[in-house]
Amino acid sequence: MTNEIEFDENLWFNHKGCEGKHYLIGNPHTFPGRIYAWCPKKERSFFVSVSEIEQMSEYSKYWINGFLNGNQPEPPTDSNGDVDFESVEYKK
Ligand SMILES: [Zn+2]
Repeated sequence: MTNEIEFDENLWFNHKGCEGKHYLIGNPHTFPGRIYAWCPKKERSFFVSVSEIEQMSEYSKYWINGFLNGNQPEPPTDSNGDVDFESVEYKK
């Protein structure tokens, strides 16, 4: 098992205050409007709001649109109720 996070290279955006491309990952289940994302530069995941995004790909625009409208399917959770990023369901 590695700490590598899988992300879609089409789902990039520029994050305020940090250089380069960042990637949308999914729903952090914190509160509405927060998005789980990946920073390759810092090699860590973080939460981002749309207001912190300066530029993004067309794919990201559509993804976020769907996300904010509640069309994104709920990711699977493990027995603790946490999002199970390793599950096969999540990668579909
Ligand atoms: Zn960053």
